[in-house]
Amino acid sequence: MSKFFATNKAVEIGPQKIIQLFFPHSNFHAIVVVDNTALGPSIGGVRVSLDVTVEEVKRLAMVMTMKNSISGLPHGGGKAGIIVDPKSPEKEHYFRVFAQAIKELYEYIPGPDMGSNEECMAWIYDEIGRATGLPEEIGGLPLDRLGATGYGLAECAEIACPYAGIELKMARVVIQGFGSVGRASAKNFSEKGATVIAVSDTKGSIYNPDGLDVNELMDVKRTTGSVINYKKGTVKNCEDLFSIPCEILIPAATPDVIRRDNVDRISAKLILQGANIPITREAEEILHKRGILSVPDFIANAGGVIMAAMEYAKKSEGEAFDAISERIRKNTKLILEKSLNEDIPPRDAAESIAKERVLKAMSYKKGL
Ligand code: NAD
Repeated sequence: MSKFFATNKAVEIGPQKIIQLFFPHSNFHAIVVVDNTALGPSIGGVRVSLDVTVEEVKRLAMVMTMKNSISGLPHGGGKAGIIVDPKSPEKEHYFRVFAQAIKELYEYIPGPDMGSNEECMAWIYDEIGRATGLPEEIGGLPLDRLGATGYGLAECAEIACPYAGIELKMARVVIQGFGSVGRASAKNFSEKGATVIAVSDTKGSIYNPDGLDVNELMDVKRTTGSVINYKKGTVKNCEDLFSIPCEILIPAATPDVIRRDNVDRISAKLILQGANIPITREAEEILHKRGILSVPDFIANAGGVIMAAMEYAKKSEGEAFDAISERIRKNTKLILEKSLNEDIPPRDAAESIAKERVLKAMSYKKGL
């Protein structure tokens, strides 16, 4: 195993450390980025994917700094990537090797992300006693099973809908991705009276303008592996999901799925960013000019990390859900008011508030 450390002092906030880990004996490679620790040890998920890059982990770690700051958590931002197939039978081995390599990187606390789950966090915890999003049998609040992020997205929607001129109960909802975030979003939005009309996964999209039965869809996904096997809908390809007429669009899969080349296809009135960095900055500006409200990732999808931080602070499940509701509702209102008053995209409004807290904390530290 060898490690490479680099620091970047020229950047206003981060990244503080970019670490690449090579494990020739186990034949894999991992990345950890600690973006900023002025507010406390960084928390951020471990992404498992064959495609994850240093650049992606850097961008995701920066989003975590913003998210943890604006959510009022005593944590900085970090992120990791393990470059292997998430379905590999060797997954436990990879996680245990990875955990040992970050044992003394105390400023990074791992959590679940795409391709990892509470079981993976339990392996890390077993190795080094430091991880969040743990199974409840070992004292955790399993944020994916509890649907923390989907719950938070629906709380965000209740505040954001009036700003977009829509009523949540009348809204048609389209969701990209039917993993932890997508499934919990579908459940929470339908419980609030909205109609989920289309969802997708890597195999394609399923669409029914009259609405999909969310429980049935979950069974189909669990038993057949894809939402496209749901019988009461039309199958479309992945990209066609974005042109389906709807009021609310929730990208809840991979980065940069809405870009300059496809942003014009979107007809939703409100976009809630369930995934991290799902929309390029250029596309966000175009959406703002077109009057489509887009609530940034680090406001809308903060439910997961708020629950992770509550677990780390030994709070109960009830306290964690209360914190998610209270903080996401407050922050959504705060940034949408600022965006409206200053005519700036919601992300710019949110970033200026989040950065202020980080910069203030940095001013109290030597050498950050
Ligand atoms: P997951 O691995 O459980 O699910 C991802 C889903 O996306 C899968 O259904 C997969 O089939 C689908 N997918 C992948 N590529 C796709 C494509 N091109 N088109 C359509 N579907 C595609 O991951 P998750 O935990 O649900 O996370 C999803 C996103 O939300 C990630 O960006 C993650 O960083 C972000 N996020 C997750 C949490 C959380 O609590 N899990 C919290 C905040 C943000």
